[in-house]
Amino acid sequence: MFRSINFNAGPAALPQEVILKAQEELFDYHGTGMSIMEMSHRSKEFHAVHVHAQSMLREIMDIPDTHEVLFMQGGASHQFAMVPMNFLHPGQTAHYILTGTWAEKALQEAASLGSVDVLASTKETGYRSVPAELSKKPLHSAYTHITSNNTIYGTQWQSFPEVEDRLIADMSSDIMSRKIDVSKFSLIYAGAQKNLGPSGVTVVIADKDFLGTAQREQPKILQYKTFSDSNSLYNTPPTFSIYMLALVLEWTLERGGIHAIEKANNEKAQLLYHEIDSSEGFYEGHAEKGSRSQMNVTFRLPSEDLTAEFLKGAAAEGMVGLPGHRSVGGCRASIYNAVPITHCEALAEYMEKFRKKN
Ligand code: PMP
Repeated sequence: MFRSINFNAGPAALPQEVILKAQEELFDYHGTGMSIMEMSHRSKEFHAVHVHAQSMLREIMDIPDTHEVLFMQGGASHQFAMVPMNFLHPGQTAHYILTGTWAEKALQEAASLGSVDVLASTKETGYRSVPAELSKKPLHSAYTHITSNNTIYGTQWQSFPEVEDRLIADMSSDIMSRKIDVSKFSLIYAGAQKNLGPSGVTVVIADKDFLGTAQREQPKILQYKTFSDSNSLYNTPPTFSIYMLALVLEWTLERGGIHAIEKANNEKAQLLYHEIDSSEGFYEGHAEKGSRSQMNVTFRLPSEDLTAEFLKGAAAEGMVGLPGHRSVGGCRASIYNAVPITHCEALAEYMEKFRKKN
């Protein structure tokens, strides 16, 4: 059966084992005579999937009891608005660190709701890095917002900034890719469609005390409290997406959890960065070395014509998803958790072959 070598940026490759398991269970889920999509979100079968997904995520990411796991909808873009709506109180200022397009979008939503300040930005240098150090002390702000991995530019925070207020992170494109200290964050959010599963479910991990400080004037559906009070079952959740998330989490545990995933991600990224670094300038990485992403490897070729030829040849070898984002150009290989090392080996080999030919 044909499977492409999938480097899509998101929605992105899912583990083959997960797709096959979903297929196997699709017609008759555990003898119920229906698929998981066709039953009530209040059924005992779905409830078991829902709470199992939460507990597996806790185990894999080592989420402390101080933090809650919420399943929401609307993607990361919905969180761009939810965060300031709930936590940017009148009279306060929220700090944003700009490291790419998604951080800018998060800032724009907050700016439409209250007072914001850009604590640091790498825009002037084409978002090739994350800031080395913060210029201003972020005291007395509502929170500081960062984007842990910049999907479009291929940069990633190697260690997180030390801030004195509450740290909030959009981890859409690198959640569960490496060991992190969840207790450092007041709130983490991620659309599932890169490392966690299909689109439809947004994972939020939040400090319970911080959730308690949220404003209460918002409509109920726009309050985090509504989701935490109901264990994310206030209304119908995206049941199939949560089921797929559970399968991805099971697969992650079977592979050995976060350490095994992180090790594999390092090896995968290393293969491609090695190819860039040993190409004597033929491939030029977009990201500065100290800010390189393990998830999205961005690079350019010497000309537009060569880029087009490179992409055409890659497609002929079954590789998809390699054109760079329109705002950066060049190429981008998204190598999330589910992308096997063999696919990175195939790309590295192809890059070498193409370079030698040209
Ligand atoms: N943040 C980051 C880092 C992303 O990569 C993306 C999507 N590519 C978004 C936010 C927007 O996510 P969504 O489409 O789920 O709203």
